[in-house]
Amino acid sequence: MGRLTLSHAAMTTNLLDFDLEGLAAFCEQLGQKRFRATQLFRWIHQKGASDFEQMTDLAKALREKLAISAHIEGLKVVSRHDSTDGTIKWLFDVGAGDVIETVFIPETDRGTLCISSQAGCAVGCRFCSTGHQGFSRNLTTGEIISQLWFAEHFLRKHLGRDERVISNVVMMGMGEPLQNYAQLLPALKVMLDDHGYGLSRRRVTVSTSGVVPMIDRLARDCPVALAVSLHAPHDVLRDNLVPLNKKYPIAELLEACTRYQSAAPRDFITFEYCMLDGVNDQPEHARQLVALMKTHAANGLSCKFNLIPFNPFPASGLVRSPMPQVMAFAKILMDGGLVTTVRKTRGDDIDAACGQLAGDVQDRTGVDQRMAAQRQGMLGGIKVVVQGREGA
Ligand code: SAH
Ligand code: SF4
Repeated sequence: MGRLTLSHAAMTTNLLDFDLEGLAAFCEQLGQKRFRATQLFRWIHQKGASDFEQMTDLAKALREKLAISAHIEGLKVVSRHDSTDGTIKWLFDVGAGDVIETVFIPETDRGTLCISSQAGCAVGCRFCSTGHQGFSRNLTTGEIISQLWFAEHFLRKHLGRDERVISNVVMMGMGEPLQNYAQLLPALKVMLDDHGYGLSRRRVTVSTSGVVPMIDRLARDCPVALAVSLHAPHDVLRDNLVPLNKKYPIAELLEACTRYQSAAPRDFITFEYCMLDGVNDQPEHARQLVALMKTHAANGLSCKFNLIPFNPFPASGLVRSPMPQVMAFAKILMDGGLVTTVRKTRGDDIDAACGQLAGDVQDRTGVDQRMAAQRQGMLGGIKVVVQGREGA
C-alpha cells in the first residue's frame, strides 16, 4: 500500500503546484470546464481537502479521473515546536536531507505565517545562518504553498476554529524569494485568489535582499507588500554584509523601490536593518541612512524602517547590538523623519527564527538527533527573533 501510494504520487500531478489558471488548464486536459477547476481549487485551499472522495459536489466519474491522474500532497512534517507565547514552528522535510521551516506568529489582531522559498540560499549574507549554509535548491510552487495549506488547516483544527486563522503571510523564512521567481509567482497568486486564501495584496509580504530586475517583475505581475533587507547605509558596508550588493548597489536598489511604489500606490517599502554591534549600528550610520532616504524621498520613495536585533550564531563572528544602542539608532532615524519600529522577539523558548534553525541540518544527516540536541540547547544557544511583522 505504502509503495503504491508513493509511486502514484511520483507519477501523477500534485495539484498544490497550480494556481487557479494552472488548475483550469489541467482540468481542461481532462475535458472539464473552468468552474470545475474553481470548485476543486476551493476544496483544496479553502477546505484543506486532500482526498478526491471528499469532494462530494464533483461527479463520481471526475473524482475517479482525478484520482488516477493527480494527487494533493503537502510536505512531510519533521517536527513541531510550540512556544509559550503561542508561536508555532514546523520543520518540513523536502527530501535529500534538506529541511525548511515555517513559523506561525499569533497576535491579537492578526495571525502571521512566515514561509520559506528555498532550501538554503545563494546570497550568502554574513549575518544569516541560511546564507552560511549555502544553496541547496529552489522550492516548487507546491512546496511553497504547502506551508500555508498545511498550517492554515492544522491551525483551524488545533484551535477549533471554522474561519480563517492566518491573516498575513511573509516570505521571510529560508531563501531569497526573488531568486525563485517562477515558482514564487503562482504561490503568491494562490494566496491572493478569492477562491484560494483571499489575502489582500497588503497582507502578503515578499522580503528580498535586493534582486533589482525581479523587483520590477513583481511590480508588474503581483505588487504585494515589499520588504527590502538593507542593513547598511552605504555600498562599502553593504557589499560586505550582503554580497548581492556588488551586483545591485544601493542607489539602483532604491530606484527600483521607487518604481515599485508607482505600481503599488499608497504603500510604503519596509526596510529591514539587522543590528550588528559595532558594524552597522553607530550613530553615524543612522545619520547616513536619514540622508540617503531624504534623497530618495524627493523622488517619491516612502518607507518605514524595521530594526531587527541580530540573532547570533557561532560561525558569524558577529554580536547583537545592545538594546540601548538599538534605541539610540531608532531615535536618530525617527528624529530624521523616518517611521521606525524595533522588531519584537517571539518564540524565544523554541528557537523560532526564520532561516535560523534549519541551517543546522546542512550535513544532511541525522535531522532528528540534531533536532533533539537543539531542544536540549546543545547547539550553541542560537537565539531567535521571529520575523514577520509587516502587512496591514
Ligand atoms: N532572503 C530574504 C528573505 C529571508 S531572510 C531577505 O534577505 O530579505 C528574512 C529576514 O531575516 C531578512 O531581513 C534578513 O536580513 C533577516 N535575518 C537573517 N539572518 C538574521 C539573523 N541572524 N538575525 C536577524 N535577522 C536575520
Ligand atoms: Fe539569503 Fe536572506 Fe539569508 Fe541573505 S538574509 S542569506 S538573502 S535568506
